[in-house]
Amino acid sequence: MSEYNTVIGLEVHSELNTKTKCFCGCKNEFGSNPNTHTCPVCTAMPGALPVLNRDAVERAILMGLAVGCRINNYSVFERKNYFYPDLSKAYQISQLEYPLCVGGGIEIEVDGKKKFIRLNRIHLEEDAGKLIHSNAGTLVDYNRGGVPLIEIVSEPDMSSAEEAVAYLQKLRSTLLYVGVSDCKMQEGSIRFDVNISVNKDGEPLGTRTELKNLNSFRAVLKAIKYEANRQIEELEAGRAIVQETRRWDDEKGRTYSMRSKEDSQDYRYFPDPDLIPLDVKPEYIDTIRARLPKLAPQRIEEYKSWGLTEQDAKLLTDEREYADFFEAVLKEFNEPKFVCNWITAEVFKKLNAIEDEEKKIPVNPSELASMLKLYKDGEINQAGARKIFDILWEKGGNPVQLVEELGLKQMNDTGALKEILQKIVADNPKAVKELQEGNEKTMAFFVGQAMRATQGKANPKMVADIVKELIK
Ligand code: ADP
Ligand code: MG
Ligand code: ZN
Repeated sequence: MSEYNTVIGLEVHSELNTKTKCFCGCKNEFGSNPNTHTCPVCTAMPGALPVLNRDAVERAILMGLAVGCRINNYSVFERKNYFYPDLSKAYQISQLEYPLCVGGGIEIEVDGKKKFIRLNRIHLEEDAGKLIHSNAGTLVDYNRGGVPLIEIVSEPDMSSAEEAVAYLQKLRSTLLYVGVSDCKMQEGSIRFDVNISVNKDGEPLGTRTELKNLNSFRAVLKAIKYEANRQIEELEAGRAIVQETRRWDDEKGRTYSMRSKEDSQDYRYFPDPDLIPLDVKPEYIDTIRARLPKLAPQRIEEYKSWGLTEQDAKLLTDEREYADFFEAVLKEFNEPKFVCNWITAEVFKKLNAIEDEEKKIPVNPSELASMLKLYKDGEINQAGARKIFDILWEKGGNPVQLVEELGLKQMNDTGALKEILQKIVADNPKAVKELQEGNEKTMAFFVGQAMRATQGKANPKMVADIVKELIK
């Protein structure tokens, strides 16, 4: 079976985090009471006319610029017609022939191998309402209807489930860097459709199926593997692949046929007569480009110039949230390497333990800065630093006060430490001999003993110095 190639193209829908909807002044807000953010425009009252939201256009352009798209000066809104109750007008305003952004791409890395995934286009459109199936029948909430959305369409350049997930993660990370979408998967503000086909070397692309209802990266991974195998089995059994939309059932771990796939002519697209074509002047695009925030590659270079390794810089810039957090800590404690070490070790360890795919750092950066300062100055040792960090993570606090309250102040008193160590040295002649013979590892034993005698407060560096002195 291995002679088959898997071919994957992705369509990512991402809601833009504008204040208001795409063609009316209603609030763009998740989680409000149903149908409270609606008006004659987004509920399709006769005679109501759409007015384009400038901020939505600018956000779409920002994202286009961030991934190297060409921004079309001329683009057209069209009506995509289909009859379904989530759509108040019975058409969705979208773009087909003349999208806002074309080309560009995203570089991914899987198992150390870099690959460039080309984008076909990014276009602007409106979201549909949400159907809620209940005992009382199916209800509809139009709060989401008319919310601005970008659809980011890739070329069929990915050839494994792992590449598809790497692409989605990179795309999500870029959206968050640019700041145009909050990308909350649970709230549906980022959604993906996976197109998948299989073929053999030298053959034209196979017939594709489109998978819907994928709402986690884990689901994407499993669904692609399942679907590629299913297609291969169909072909091996001498059956043809049907071009169709299939639904991923996460619980059963398989895909089901939903409906045959519509072609674009089925939607009877035509330019929306209520909206004139968009005319985006080059100078206007330049003013938007000037607002592009610093993206990961730029930050990596900057961090390297502060003395971080390439690998550390990459880890910290994986998500904008980490990079922003790192920089916020540095604002109050400018020790890049020291802060980086704490974040990549201690912060990431805690983040990894979170099951959720959206991981937030709950710590206040100034509190972490204050704790790290105490640690670097030798006021607390590593065990103390970790203890305080646990508290900062759980509920926050003032590290200076916590050191007092918890009695974590490191023992930096040479005289007192010397007294304790004299006794330890006298009680452990065998260890002393080993150390004198050059077995450096034995030092850990003395540090351990000193920690026990001081309830973990001894300064380990001082302990080592004093022990060396005593056994001379
Ligand atoms: P539609 O809008 O009808 O879904 P598009 O032509 O815009 O169709 O393609 C949608 C997605 O399908 C794109 O991401 C594209 O890369 C992908 N795609 C097209 N052909 C194939 C194929 N044979 N195998 C896998 N993906 C494909
Ligand atoms: Mg599609
Ligand atoms: Zn409205």
